[in-house]
Amino acid sequence: MTDLPPIAQRLHQIERQIREAERQHHRDPGSVQLVAVSKTRPASDLLAAHAAGQHRFGESYLQEALEKIEQLAEYPLEWHFIGRIQGNKTRPIAEHFAWVHSLDSLRHAQRLNDQRPSHLPPLKLCVQVNIDQQSSKGGVASGEIAALVSALHQLPRLRLEGLMTLPAAREAFSAQRQPFAALRQLRDRLATPAQPLTTLSMGMSDDLEAAIAEGATLVRVGSALFGERG
Ligand SMILES: *Cc1c(COP(=O)(O)O)cnc(C)c1O
Repeated sequence: MTDLPPIAQRLHQIERQIREAERQHHRDPGSVQLVAVSKTRPASDLLAAHAAGQHRFGESYLQEALEKIEQLAEYPLEWHFIGRIQGNKTRPIAEHFAWVHSLDSLRHAQRLNDQRPSHLPPLKLCVQVNIDQQSSKGGVASGEIAALVSALHQLPRLRLEGLMTLPAAREAFSAQRQPFAALRQLRDRLATPAQPLTTLSMGMSDDLEAAIAEGATLVRVGSALFGERG
């Protein structure tokens, strides 16, 4: 174990932490999946994680992401766009990613739908919700989300999977759970048989256990896996 490369050791540690949190909080085994957040990291770090079994990667900065996607094209990696979508830069997202976690406008959704290449499956989406009214973080307000969710149902090249949030950091475990519980409750109110919204993308390096306790299905972990960002 100790002679594994550091990224492999940390990956296995995080996987153990996820499995332990599933057990502790009565979640089905394997119901929480890891998105390795590789923003600012060189392609060699992603390869080290891939060699240790990771294939889902989250990127926030489009230009940087596109370079890595090209460098790593021969590997079967699944790319998740988790950053702010800039007005007219939707085409490369539609062409190169499997998932977008950070959708917060119908205009972006329409562009992604029109630009999704026909040889690819529909683009999987989460709507980003500004659950604790932190305007700097992006995301739709809870009150506006129902209209966006029903409009997305009309766009055939997109597939709405669920909701995502990025709450402000909190110290205590019970405080960390609150915004995640709010996102889950919002999902429960919005879910229909046609749009079950099974994905909850929530939880990062410092609050993933709280997110798993409240129903996260995708946790997005960067610094705990790759080290602190410079
Ligand atoms: C950077 C980032 C993460 C990962 O944060 P860590 O604290 O490094 O785990 C998760 N989600 C989003 C949207 C991010 O931008």
